[in-house]
Amino acid sequence: MAHRVINFNPGPATLPLPVLETVQKELLDYHGEGMSIMEISHRSKTFDDLVQEAEVRVKQIMGFSDDYRVLFLQGGATAQFAAVPLNLITDGKTGEYINTGSWATKAIKEAEKLGKPFRVIASSEDDNFTYIPTDFSVGTDAAFVHITSNNTIFGTQWQEYPDTGDVPLVADMSSDLYCRRFDPNRFALIYAGAQKNAGPSGVTIVIIRKDLLERSPKNIPSILNYKLFAEKNSLYNTPNTFGIYVVNLVMKWIQDEGGIDVIEERNRKKAQMIYEVLDASDFYRPHARKDSRSIMNVTWRLPSEELEKQFVAEAKERELVGLKGHRSVGGIRASIYNAMTIEGVQRLVEFMKEFEKKHG
Ligand SMILES: *Cc1c(COP(=O)(O)O)cnc(C)c1O
Repeated sequence: MAHRVINFNPGPATLPLPVLETVQKELLDYHGEGMSIMEISHRSKTFDDLVQEAEVRVKQIMGFSDDYRVLFLQGGATAQFAAVPLNLITDGKTGEYINTGSWATKAIKEAEKLGKPFRVIASSEDDNFTYIPTDFSVGTDAAFVHITSNNTIFGTQWQEYPDTGDVPLVADMSSDLYCRRFDPNRFALIYAGAQKNAGPSGVTIVIIRKDLLERSPKNIPSILNYKLFAEKNSLYNTPNTFGIYVVNLVMKWIQDEGGIDVIEERNRKKAQMIYEVLDASDFYRPHARKDSRSIMNVTWRLPSEELEKQFVAEAKERELVGLKGHRSVGGIRASIYNAMTIEGVQRLVEFMKEFEKKHG
């Protein structure tokens, strides 16, 4: 057995062990081709079949209807920050954004840089993004409403998605797509860099309602044009072939585990185990408000930065790695994506209790 630590990294993040084992097994000879998946032509039938299989799984797991297309793109969520306003803000309409953290802020900045009409209709910046705002209204001239479903850095997550009526709802779900069940057909567009919950870095899953494809203007860079990539089944240029392959394996793993409800139940249990320790303690101070807590990234502070450093160091000695919080929040962040096991979280929780006893 290979030596594996308990990996709480925020992204790239831990992947399911069976997926890694399959990759290892198939690496030299993919399905009898006598080549690895990285050496195969993206124009071959073998690869085309793989893309189609991945597209079907991506839709099946959440229950997207036939009104949606799945694209596998490059450039991470960051490329989508530009692609969304470029493709979707047309005809004197305005992009509307809800600012719930650093990633949302970056999405807004791209719209601004591109000179697109936009407005921020709600923000939780006033309290260092500890909560999800609920009070906002959608304009009649809105091209879309953009939300960030899970705020990876701050540890907050939308508990219920907003009702935007006929206005397309767009979401950056980079760190929580496939963590729980929701009605996917309420969304017009969902995008997610794969490296948190769905695969390796370098591939971005974009799920777009077909009617939105008609908005893509001709005069935008081809690499960011949704319509073009939909027409070419994600193969307009050379895609991240290896990345798409691993995403397909992760999707298959979710199905083999019993599907999204089984995954959600496990995720809620893991998050609850950590929040229980935080709530029973005066030593640990959770960052996110209770009504906005994430089940993917749990964030908290300790009484001093000295203790926070010590916490991270002592955790590492026990092979609990990747727990240092992002610099804009400080403290500790435990990223507990789908591939994190209950046993892994159990180990963390035991360590938290011991550390508090010793230093609290
Ligand atoms: C990690 C992350 C990003 C950044 O993604 P890249 O793939 O590095 O561009 C954007 N949004 C959210 C919510 C994230 O968690």
